[in-house]
Amino acid sequence: KRLVILGGGESGVGTALLGKEKGYEVFVSDKGTIKQKYRDVLLNNDIDFEDQKHTESKILNADLVMKSPGIPDKVPLIKQIRTQNIEVISEIEFASRYTKANLVAITGSNGKTTTAALTHHILKQEIEVGLAGNIGDSFAKQLLEKNYQNYVLEVSSFQLDDIKYFKPNMAILTNITPDHLDRYDYKFENYIASKFRIVENQSSEDYFIYDADDPVISNHIKNHSIQSKLLPFSLVKQLDEGAYYSNNAITITIDNNKIIMPTQNITLEGKHNIKNAMAASTVAHLLKIRKQTIRESLENFQGVEHRLEHVLRINKVQYINDSKATNVNATYYALESMDAPTVWIVGGEDKGNDYKELFPFVNEKVKAIICLGVDNTKLFEAFGNMVDVIVETQYMSEAVKIAYKVSEAGDNVLLSPACASFDLFENYEDRGRQFKNAVRNL
Ligand code: ADP
Repeated sequence: KRLVILGGGESGVGTALLGKEKGYEVFVSDKGTIKQKYRDVLLNNDIDFEDQKHTESKILNADLVMKSPGIPDKVPLIKQIRTQNIEVISEIEFASRYTKANLVAITGSNGKTTTAALTHHILKQEIEVGLAGNIGDSFAKQLLEKNYQNYVLEVSSFQLDDIKYFKPNMAILTNITPDHLDRYDYKFENYIASKFRIVENQSSEDYFIYDADDPVISNHIKNHSIQSKLLPFSLVKQLDEGAYYSNNAITITIDNNKIIMPTQNITLEGKHNIKNAMAASTVAHLLKIRKQTIRESLENFQGVEHRLEHVLRINKVQYINDSKATNVNATYYALESMDAPTVWIVGGEDKGNDYKELFPFVNEKVKAIICLGVDNTKLFEAFGNMVDVIVETQYMSEAVKIAYKVSEAGDNVLLSPACASFDLFENYEDRGRQFKNAVRNL
């Protein structure tokens, strides 16, 4: 059988390796340039590939197509493939066909990486578990190297768009706020439906863990029948089944088996991270990890780079890198978690942002705003009257120097852009690293 892989990145090359091992005749095609490290892997494994073009005759000859998540459905070649009824799947779909492992899949608009890393961190204390998906090495490649009995998978909506049988034993949905709508015909309902595909193949043996406080999720559950066992988590409601937070503790009940864990000493900050901790701990409880282990793991988890990452304290000012906050909702939780007057560095490529929900926090906590983007008009319009100091720059080093000047002992300096980074930076990692370097240079 002929397997064609569109996109020669991490998931494409991983799929190519697994496909070859499973006896497929594999061809990788990438419209852009395949990175040297991936070219080397393909060459070393004798896998046929091309880049900077798509040879249609070869592609349309496929029995199965694996499409990388970055390729939108509206590309004419994809339409053509579908018209010819060739099956199109994602890497997570392909790889999951070759494992019997217990799969924990995590999706949502924000919090996927943090929750996946935290879940993995807790589980690995007691059981054999891999971490894959949008994190690190591809799932397909990892299955070749070591077939663990458990995998924690970070799954994007683009990966879910092309599943067919993918059936996680435990699915987590962290939240749903509008994002990536350009890929969903600008219809929020299409994006919601994509996220909920994480449960579409689940049966009554499988678990669905979700944020019960999220109105979009609750509303969808009310109006659709879901086969899975439901395990909600909540910051505000005491739940008989699932997890909730009250009096500085997380309570998790599954089939009358209850554990209670204090949260005063957990390393992650902010309410959103209590939610992430509830989701991760629910999985751990399901997998019979000891309460003591869960608690200790929550207390020694080091967090993930660029997510409310504490960089340095200089002259009693704390510098915090939240470069991964590429939308308003992520920044909402960053500001919410600030416990001191804050100098806020914000801006970048706006995705149709509505800043209204941030107003109360800005009024209450933000003393100065430094706009760091090519076009800062919307930020000046939204916040111009709210703070005494609002300035703009297109250089990270200058933004950090201004922050240094206007901050005083006891303040925070927070980079939480609420925007994509592509106007001034390569990506959010580049933005975060430039911030950290600038802080270290102060
Ligand atoms: P994702 O992988 O879904 O992009 P990350 O864990 O990388 O999520 O976090 C992205 C941004 O969202 C960071 O700024 C982080 O602080 C924030 N964040 C993390 N968890 C949540 C959550 N549950 N709700 C809202 N924002 C969150």
